[in-house]
Parts: sequence; C-alpha cells; structure tokens
Amino acid sequence: MSPTKGYAAHSAQEPLKPFSFERREPTATDVQIEILFCGVCHSDLHIARNEWGGTTYPCVPGHEIAGRVVKVGRDVKKFKEGDLAAVGCLVDSDRTCGNCQAGLEQFCEGGPTFTYNSPDQHTGGMTYGGYSKSVVVDQDFVLRLSDKLDLASSAPLLCAGITTYSPLRKWKVGKGQKVGVIGLGGLGHMALKFANAFGAEVTLFTTSPGKTADAKRLGAHEVIITKDQEALENQANRFDFIIDTVSAQHNINAYLGVLKRDGVLCLVGVPPDPMPVAAFNLIVPRRQLAGSLIGGIAETQEMLDFCADRGIACDIELIKIEQINDAYERMLKSDVKYRFVIDMASF
Ligand code: NAP
Ligand code: ZN
Repeated sequence: MSPTKGYAAHSAQEPLKPFSFERREPTATDVQIEILFCGVCHSDLHIARNEWGGTTYPCVPGHEIAGRVVKVGRDVKKFKEGDLAAVGCLVDSDRTCGNCQAGLEQFCEGGPTFTYNSPDQHTGGMTYGGYSKSVVVDQDFVLRLSDKLDLASSAPLLCAGITTYSPLRKWKVGKGQKVGVIGLGGLGHMALKFANAFGAEVTLFTTSPGKTADAKRLGAHEVIITKDQEALENQANRFDFIIDTVSAQHNINAYLGVLKRDGVLCLVGVPPDPMPVAAFNLIVPRRQLAGSLIGGIAETQEMLDFCADRGIACDIELIKIEQINDAYERMLKSDVKYRFVIDMASF
C-alpha cells in the first residue's frame, strides 16, 4: 500500500475536506497513474450529498481522471511509465457476462466496480475516486489519451463526453435529423458538440437566457428558452431525438410533446426524485422514452480517438481542490462554463 491524499465527503451535510488514505501496490496487470486533472461531474455532488441514497462515507468523488503513468505491473502491455492515461467511471467488471462480452461493462451482470463509492475487490473497502493525487487501476479499464488535445480539457470527456456520445451513436443521430439537447452544463455542452459534429440540426433547450451566445458557439443552430411556455409549444412534433441532461426536477411532458412520431427522449440526467409522465404524451404519436448510462470501455476509447481526430475537447474552468465546495454551489445555480476541472498538480 502507498499513502496518498485527496478530498472526501464525510457526511451528506458537511463540505468536502482533505483526506489521507492508501492506494494498493500495482498488481501484475495494474497501472498506477499520477492524477494531474479531475473533472467535476454533477454526479459527484449527488453522491457526496447522498441524493441518490447508498453513499458510504468517507467518499472521495471524481471519475473524470487524466494523468500520467508512474508505474506498471509486469504483465502490462498497453502502457508504460510516462504515458498519458485516463480513467472514467468504471475500474472493473466481471468481464464474462453477456453485457461485458458485448462491450457494455457499465451494465455488468456481476455488478460493475465504479471508480468511487463501489465495493473494492482489492482492499475490501470502498473505491476512492479522482479527487486525489494517485490511482491504481487494471490496464483493461485505463484509456489512452492523445497529446493532440489539452490534458485538462480532455479529462471531462471520460464522463460528460462518453455519456453524451454513446446515446447519440446508439440512436444514430446524424444528417437530416433534428436533435434537441436539454440543459447546458457539463453533459449538455458536449452533447451540442457531438450532435453538431455528427451533422444533425441542433437545438438547445435552456432555462438560462444568458447562455444563448455560448450555445451557438458550442454547436447549437437554435436556442429555446424553456421558461417561455409558448416557445416550447411552437416546437410541437418537430424533433427526432432529444437528450435530457437536467439534474433536477423538470417537466418531461413538455419535451415529449416536441418529438415527432417515433421520436426518442433519452434521459441521461438523474434527478433524485421520480418524474410523472402523461401516458398520452407517449402513445400519441408513438413516442419513446429511454435512458443511457455512460458507455463501455471500447466505446470510450472510440470517443477519445474521435475527439483527438476532430479537435473536440471540453470548455473548462480550472479550479484548485480547495475550491471544490464553492464549485458545487455554483453547479447548483447552473453557473458552470461548462465543466469545472480540478488542477490536482497544485494540491
Ligand atoms: P451540470 O453541469 O450541473 O448541468 C445540468 C444543467 O441542467 C444545468 O446547467 C442547467 O442547464 C440544467 N438545469 C439544472 N437545474 C435545472 C432545473 N431545475 N430545471 C431545468 N434545468 C435545469 O450537470 P452535469 O454534470 O452535466 O450532469 C447532469 C446530470 O446528468 C446529473 O444528474 C448527473 O448526475 C447526470 N449524469 C448522468 C450520467 C449517465 O451516465 N446517465 C453520467 C454523468 C452525469 P441550463 O442552465 O441550460 O438550463
Ligand atoms: Zn459523471
């Protein structure tokens, strides 16, 4: 075991604070990474504050990890000391079930091991995430990063990137389609970039009129301010696909209404409480309500390679770890432009 330090939540009510703990020595197939940057996902806040239930304390959040390899086990072939490397939301799975075999480790039937707040097979405790200086992960769950992209701006691709890329690919979003993105935060800004890169006609639905110019720069062709009921009603039956990234309670019926026949509303945002759905909004005209969870390891690598090829990265605001509690408060006010990334090297 080797000592490291990070920031942890010790209860749902307290701010995060410095925390010392140990990482395992790399096994034969492990990669040890010095964490240089870690993105701040709204899921970190939901889990640190136990908004979904099931948080074990202390909890070290962080699943948008970018850094440099400092040590590899003797059987590691994919990485060597000094390489850039990244870790997203997953650090292990059973690798044998049907979903793992299909490259969908996030749905592992044996239960995926998430990067934090998951039972840790090695230590018997819980996994600790990227708000820390160092992490040890099996090589099969470590991603390659191109040096063509800025490292700090690449970190949020590991969750915000793959979570929006994966459903846009699965539902074959592209040229000739009208696509909506609800919410312009970390996930939303990547959804705009990807939907635009895939050739769709892209509309942002936002509660924040001040984000209009940014949305257009990020890839939206049109921006609809959702506080204006009439503006939404004018869009009835126009959209092929909508990705909903909103983190809090909202009226999904209003968005179902803008879908065409057979259109899909895909939830990726996870408001803690259930949201009512009016049956008629689905059955006429045969609309679909769906969901999607991050993406598998192979698809995450595909997304990172696509981003490197196309020069796509995240728009970030770099913070020090000491600012994490303020960053959470700003996130709750929809004041994120458009992802906080912690500079771990300065800690
Ligand atoms: P974020 O940066 O805080 O962005 C969320 C955006 O939602 C806000 O910027 C705001 O956009 C909008 N919003 C917030 N409160 C709202 C409200 N009450 N009504 C309407 N719109 C509201 O969060 P994020 O990191 O992108 O994460 C978004 C959600 O996705 C979270 O619930 C997170 O846990 C979840 N998530 C899911 C997955 C998955 O695999 N499915 C992966 C990562 C994250 P506007 O200002 O434009 O309205
Ligand atoms: Zn996340």
